[in-house]
Amino acid sequence: MRTAIISDIHGNLEALSVVLEHMTSQNVDRVICLGDILGYGPNPVECVDLVIEKCHFALMGNHDFGALYEPTNFNAVAEQAAYWTRAQFEAEGDPDKAARRWEFLGSLRVRIAYGDFICVHGTPRRPINEYLFPEDAINSPVKMQQVFDRVEKYCLVGHTHVPGVFTDEPDFYPPDDLNGSYQLNDDEKAIINPGSVGQPRDLDPRASYAILDEDKKGVEFFRLPYDIDAVFDKIQAVPELSDWLGERLKEGR
Ligand code: ZN
Repeated sequence: MRTAIISDIHGNLEALSVVLEHMTSQNVDRVICLGDILGYGPNPVECVDLVIEKCHFALMGNHDFGALYEPTNFNAVAEQAAYWTRAQFEAEGDPDKAARRWEFLGSLRVRIAYGDFICVHGTPRRPINEYLFPEDAINSPVKMQQVFDRVEKYCLVGHTHVPGVFTDEPDFYPPDDLNGSYQLNDDEKAIINPGSVGQPRDLDPRASYAILDEDKKGVEFFRLPYDIDAVFDKIQAVPELSDWLGERLKEGR
């Protein structure tokens, strides 16, 4: 089975569309989403509809939680975006469509396990809000230990918007250091982050996602250019979405 792993779409329809189109040529059996469909971007409703249509399952991210329930620990820009996002769903005139979206968002789970894999948005110990940063592999040995203690073999996470593989050494490998692919093995545990579809933060502005081949135990990372200017313009046109949210897309941070 080949599973496309997407995460952190953040209402970026242009990026999501390019990623979904790309995976049609990659012999993918299913798509899973590690959370943060919403927040920051100008097309949250369209992105939710696509995830409902295309994804085998999706997880609850902190921005999905923020828009649906309440934004916790958000800065002013993120909080304002969360309220604007919620208003877009409330503005739906068709009650059936509105109900379907609320029901989907309300049913998002924080943790899903299958086979050798645990899937969360943040980390296995704090599935919605905790970040596992690349520098944690160097600076935070206790945190790494505690996180890996909760991983039996392999884990899929999002949230940092930085793609790569953590091993329980602990080490972190960005996709460039792996020539774009990683072979899972029985000798080490691994935590895989596919990066962000809609708001990459590793200084590469291209949309990021990964494909996991569960049978061959291989992970491939992909980067795809998309029409950032179109998203930038949409963000500029919405007063509640800070201009910075468009600028950061161009910088990949
Ligand atoms: Zn996110």
